[in-house]
Amino acid sequence: MTEIPKITIPADLLPEDGRFGAGPSRVRTEFIDDLAATRSSFLGTSHRRPVVKKAVAEIQAGLAEMYDLPEGHEVVLGLGGATAFWDAAVFGLIENRSAHFVCGEFSQKFAASVQGSPHLDDPVVIAAEYGDAPRPVEVPGADTAAFIHNETSTGVIAPFARIGDALVVVDGTSAAGAIGFDIEAVDAYYFSPQKALGSEGGLWVGVLSPAAVERIELIADSSRWIPPFLSLKIALDNSRQHQTYNTPALATLYLLARQIELVNANGGIAWAESASRASSDHIYAWAEASEYARPFVQDSDLRSPTVVTIDLSSEIPQGLVAGVLRANGVVDTESYRKLGRNQLRFATFPNISLGDVEALTACIDYIVERL
Ligand SMILES: *Cc1c(COP(=O)(O)O)cnc(C)c1O
Repeated sequence: MTEIPKITIPADLLPEDGRFGAGPSRVRTEFIDDLAATRSSFLGTSHRRPVVKKAVAEIQAGLAEMYDLPEGHEVVLGLGGATAFWDAAVFGLIENRSAHFVCGEFSQKFAASVQGSPHLDDPVVIAAEYGDAPRPVEVPGADTAAFIHNETSTGVIAPFARIGDALVVVDGTSAAGAIGFDIEAVDAYYFSPQKALGSEGGLWVGVLSPAAVERIELIADSSRWIPPFLSLKIALDNSRQHQTYNTPALATLYLLARQIELVNANGGIAWAESASRASSDHIYAWAEASEYARPFVQDSDLRSPTVVTIDLSSEIPQGLVAGVLRANGVVDTESYRKLGRNQLRFATFPNISLGDVEALTACIDYIVERL
């Protein structure tokens, strides 16, 4: 590894907060302070107690407000993050065959989860090159169509649509709380809360349509063996009581409830999206004007408003830029490791201010001038 050059960025160029990671992402420091201030009244209490049920109920009601959920939609919580939801879907949401619209590491991982399962048919995978997105098409014989709203590994916002009568299942992990969508086009919108929603990991949240609930109940009543921890039916039953099947991380629930409340109080998902778009537009415009940087995603309609991927020209190694940034307290700007490109990646979630994003690009220019 080449040594990171010693470049000290002047303090007045630095962002106020140096966290630009796509997940775990910037958690609002005032929420951390408030959590600490609960002292003995929240952490270290039983998860069935009212204080916890209140946090879960707030999350459910807050998401219903954020997405203006139609009557009959339910917000379900379970443990293990979006990764666990994939396995739960293998057991409890996919009937026989799923179609997967793949455009990066996360959408690929869901398809891989299905591929090994003994009780399902081989999934159909419709893949695009990384940096692009597959267009929704009907896949005959598929009872479930799996899309990703925002591919965190590549910085692509991908289209999804209701085509045919497959259940539409969308990974919203780096979009939930930051990018709006047509709720009528989705049956299950699931996510982990440590990305755009600036909470901690270990939890999955699913927004389910009546059709998704019906599918879960149908499969739960069938002869299929389902491990209880991965049972969507058990998660659903517990969520109706505002609790989780097993013990959740209370800090995650607390931070998630606060972040949802903040988005709703500021004008909802449209406000959050415009905040993210202002920041990401700044970076894309900066890269396009730059002599050494350019957006990785060619099609500007597919450029994510929340996770920005920027290729650097070969004489500017990303490791050096990210390394100098890190040494100056500006962290997690490295590209997704498995992508293997000379690239920087930044989150522009609503918690990351435009001012900090402008400071970030100024810092990168400062570093590159001195390399
Ligand atoms: C991070 C991420 C996941 C995985 O989340 P975990 O909480 O680690 O399970 C899944 N999908 C997307 C789009 C992600 O960004």
